[in-house]
Amino acid sequence: MEIPYELLGRIFVYLLLFVLLGIVLALLVGFYSFKKKKVVFPNFVLFILYLFYSPAKWICSVFSIRDTLVDEILIEVRNAVMLDDFINAKGPRAVFLPQCMRHASCRARCDPIIGYECKQCGLCDIGAICEAAGEHGFTVYVIPGGSFVKKIMKAHRPTSCIGVACYDELSESMEEISFIPVQGICLLRDGCFNTKVDVAEVIDKMEVCNV
Ligand code: SF4
Repeated sequence: MEIPYELLGRIFVYLLLFVLLGIVLALLVGFYSFKKKKVVFPNFVLFILYLFYSPAKWICSVFSIRDTLVDEILIEVRNAVMLDDFINAKGPRAVFLPQCMRHASCRARCDPIIGYECKQCGLCDIGAICEAAGEHGFTVYVIPGGSFVKKIMKAHRPTSCIGVACYDELSESMEEISFIPVQGICLLRDGCFNTKVDVAEVIDKMEVCNV
């Protein structure tokens, strides 16, 4: 039987156009939700942008749009979708902070399961977040990497959490632990050292919870 190359080629091109159109639509709807703080078709946006994460970033780069936009949309849309469940969640609550927020002179010991055990020495913002967390029923985990999230989930089974990380790590981690209500906050200054988060924003997220 002769292989219909022309027909197959056409189907391939149409499929490609269809996918590109879907990604552009998801980006536009997600951007609208992000800007207006009004979530529209969240499941469509999350599904398409996670499935076609790299092509969506490529489309942004083609149009000279900042490459963090895809992550910003994913984080904000998921935050909006999960906010009510996060507020009303019962049981242990966790805050995951990246270890790069620690001060260079930090003397905290790293536990193989829960990460760095902050002594609240006051040299960095983690101490202040730990103090507020104690008041609002959260446990802070200062983790060296994403693998610690899995270990903590298994060992301590938090039922809701706040995650702090750089854009791409945060959007990826939020997807991985989306089986519990999660709220994500991006670092103000990222990198591998001396990173910063808006401490007031982290505390605000704790305060909205019904305890
Ligand atoms: S506040 Fe905690 S994390 Fe920050 S430097 Fe002190 S012990 Fe380390």
